[in-house]
Amino acid sequence: MPALMRQKPGGVGFYFDPSGIREVHSSKCNHCQRLTEFDSLKRMMDHVEICRGCMKLICLKCAGKPCVPFEKRAEIMEREARLLLLRQMDHLTEERLR
Ligand SMILES: [Zn+2]
Ligand SMILES: [Zn+2]
Repeated sequence: MPALMRQKPGGVGFYFDPSGIREVHSSKCNHCQRLTEFDSLKRMMDHVEICRGCMKLICLKCAGKPCVPFEKRAEIMEREARLLLLRQMDHLTEERLR
């Protein structure tokens, strides 16, 4: 029997500890995918923020920073990697021409 059982990520879970069952809510940050846990929905806003860019829940670490959703970040990283590769290839051709 696992100590922790979850219904689904981003939902409500329950911890089974010696003192009984503890309810835990979690929210996945739309920017860095970090899970933030809080013990009651009423206190949710003490632990997470809503991004004004994507209107999704984000963690406090990402709060106040520009909106960079996780999918977009992967896209940017991919584009940068491609640019870097192109730049290196350019560099190589330049050297060969010299
Ligand atoms: Zn975050
Ligand atoms: Zn956002």
